[in-house]
Amino acid sequence: MALYEHQSLKIYNSISGEKEIFQPLTEGYIGMYVCGPTVYSNVHLGNCRTFISFDLVFRYLKHLGYKVRYVRNITDAGHLENDGEEGEDRIAKKAKLMEIEPMEVVQKYSVDFHQILEKFNNLPPSIEPTATGHIIEQIETIKTIIDKGLAYEVDGNVYFDVMKYHESQHYGKLSGRKIEDLISNTRELSGQTDKKNPQDFALWKKAEPQHIMRWTSPWGVGFPGWHLECTVMSSKYLGEQFDIHGGGMDLKFPHHECEIAQGQASNGKDPVNYWMHANMLTLNGKKMSKSTGNNILPRELFTGENENLSKSYTPPVVRFFMLQANYRSILDFSDEALAAAEKGFNKLMESLTTLETIKASDSSDFDVSAWKDKCYEAMNDDFNSPILIAHLFEAVKQINLAKAGKLNLNQQSIDVLITTMKDFIFEVMGLEDPGENSKTTGSTNDFEELIQFLIDMRSHARLNKDFDTSDKIRDKLLDMNVELKDGKTGTTFQIHS
Ligand code: AMP
Ligand code: ZN
Repeated sequence: MALYEHQSLKIYNSISGEKEIFQPLTEGYIGMYVCGPTVYSNVHLGNCRTFISFDLVFRYLKHLGYKVRYVRNITDAGHLENDGEEGEDRIAKKAKLMEIEPMEVVQKYSVDFHQILEKFNNLPPSIEPTATGHIIEQIETIKTIIDKGLAYEVDGNVYFDVMKYHESQHYGKLSGRKIEDLISNTRELSGQTDKKNPQDFALWKKAEPQHIMRWTSPWGVGFPGWHLECTVMSSKYLGEQFDIHGGGMDLKFPHHECEIAQGQASNGKDPVNYWMHANMLTLNGKKMSKSTGNNILPRELFTGENENLSKSYTPPVVRFFMLQANYRSILDFSDEALAAAEKGFNKLMESLTTLETIKASDSSDFDVSAWKDKCYEAMNDDFNSPILIAHLFEAVKQINLAKAGKLNLNQQSIDVLITTMKDFIFEVMGLEDPGENSKTTGSTNDFEELIQFLIDMRSHARLNKDFDTSDKIRDKLLDMNVELKDGKTGTTFQIHS
């Protein structure tokens, strides 16, 4: 029986403003779409927070036994400088500045994005589609919306007709914006535009001669509007209706509001059942952002080279720092908070080692089963990682008491503690043990060289019929999870995690 069958997961749905019992469209399967990065510069720590928040969601859903198709796009065209309808394409602008092809910009920063997320131990999504790879599908969707009478063309531009849509649907249902306010807010901008109404948004934009990212379409040479790609790629890979759509809070309006309108207009259905929005990482009280320069790059944290830092921090510590806050709360970055997170993280890791050394008693003074239930309750309550972490620290306290001989734990309790702690720390929260890390990354070569040296010594001992020494070497290595295998061509080794 999958775990989810006897768990009741609640998700805070941004559209209802309430925590709702999660019910997937198809039992056992989940479709999840998260807006990915616009790859025109290095991913900053704020972006990482959002992607780590959704990695936690992805990991927990998988842990519960769901089969999850996780789609996260790469925006490589159509995202203009001011998020709105005007300005240069962010990628094209960077390409001009760097005097390289737009696709070189895309490649450079997509690689950076993947490298950084891998450092944070984020799982890759199931599909990572790009906007430029789906121009044909975007053109088809525009045609459908025009045919439904909800979009119109003016001189090579195609706009979504917000007022027409609002006659039968509610534009603003996600963001809570009122159409009257939108009209009055955009009135002063209406001078230059060829839109029927200033709140209409572009599905297709005509490319001016200097605009280098351009494609042919039934409306002339141009490029798709930013909001369209997510509608097209989510419906292509997850269907016209799917379970979860995520992104940063700042995308609620206009991006996600427009996605609902586009989905409704083209398919007659609300595309998403549960909207999830992750809150912002701030620096000095202000949102971290690429455009204002108020940000920290993950690499600066890993090397400590930033004026806001007293030292460097490892990726798991930074990840732990982020998970100590609820994904729906604002989190302010500070060196002190990171240093505190580092202490907490180290304590958690130490407790795992301690746990392995505890001698079992006949009885148990700690109700491990109730504790385990509380861990699941925390995660089932809208992925409440800070509460989960508090429960893990409750276990740390009990483990330390047991170690000091002040509390009894029987073998069964110890076993449950070990599996539950490991499940939540490694599998669900995606934290990596730096000890494990150093075996597989940084010092792999040193470690393996040392093993080889010991193997050579053992062979030498065996040649001299000193079997006592050779056995000692083999057993010691086994204690360190290194298994030796003697074959015809010599001795090989395998490192077990
Ligand atoms: P962008 O590359 O600007 O399209 O952003 C990629 C993702 O990062 C989006 O989901 C944004 O909402 C999110 N994001 C941007 N800035 C922050 C921040 N300071 N804190 C958390 N998430 C952010
Ligand atoms: Zn999107």
